[in-house]
Amino acid sequence: MPTPASLRTQWISTLENALPEGDWRTRFAPAPTGFLHLGHLVNAMHVWGIARAHGGRVLLRLEDHDRTRCRPEYEQALLDDLEWLGLTPDTFDTTSFRNNLVSHDARQSNQHMRYAAALQQLAAHGIVYGCRCTRKDIAQQVPHSAGTEARYPGTCRALQLSDTDTYAKRVQLETRAFHFHDLRLGAIGQTPADQCGDLLVRDRHAQWTYQFAVVVDDMTHGVDVVIRGEDLLESTGRQLQLSELLGRTTPPRFLHHTLLVHPDGSKLSKATHDTSLRDMRTAGARPDELLGLAARRAGLGDMQRLSAADIPSLFV
Ligand code: GLU
Repeated sequence: MPTPASLRTQWISTLENALPEGDWRTRFAPAPTGFLHLGHLVNAMHVWGIARAHGGRVLLRLEDHDRTRCRPEYEQALLDDLEWLGLTPDTFDTTSFRNNLVSHDARQSNQHMRYAAALQQLAAHGIVYGCRCTRKDIAQQVPHSAGTEARYPGTCRALQLSDTDTYAKRVQLETRAFHFHDLRLGAIGQTPADQCGDLLVRDRHAQWTYQFAVVVDDMTHGVDVVIRGEDLLESTGRQLQLSELLGRTTPPRFLHHTLLVHPDGSKLSKATHDTSLRDMRTAGARPDELLGLAARRAGLGDMQRLSAADIPSLFV
């Protein structure tokens, strides 16, 4: 089903030349902390659609690094929902040198050794330090308005706290700008040291942070293209900096797509109990209706129904 020309957006027509040639890899990386909602479906449609239309493969990665919020029932539900929708991840050759993962095994909670080794690698450069500041401490040190990011002012950098697990770990960032070409938004420059300050990589409960885990994983899994929502745009510079510090020579390409928002402009979230795909499914919705709805809401088409097999046609 061809996309009506009137709805074809400029960035889609540039994809073919902007994506890697040959076999490339992207990922769908949900955190099993709630049921998938329409916003996740929009992300999944971009990931699968762009990959299937342009020769990429899709790794499913379970971002379950936050053990306090992840639940097995959410994980099972997301696997079921993807299958029901017809969005099938690729499996990867276990003998491949690029990774030894079958997609379902790509779960962050299994990667402790790998993250610890990456942290060691950074520590060998003398750029990791212990930090005992709580969020409350930081809020007092750098007053900032709700919903904005506090820049960590480096309070613990010079303290040389003894190397125990009692302390969180931060990586000292160099103050310089990182530039990248977003496949939808064009040229972007960010200076992570000014945005967030020294980056938290492990918290004081010894949990790895999203920023760190995702960089190690994208490197390990040979992810060439990261396709995700615009809410993560601010993270990209710091992820590029971390991946450079970890020795990645060819950074991934990035595409940040628009987010679905409520009429008041707030984003959909699991925390605010936005209607889950599961609820819509229980209420009788069919996969092609939900895919059609997600495509319309994301401005990708005006169809009532869309089959999984037709998603790639939205991205050519
Ligand atoms: N796990 C993240 C999320 O569910 C996505 C991470 C990413 O795409 O970099 O929002």
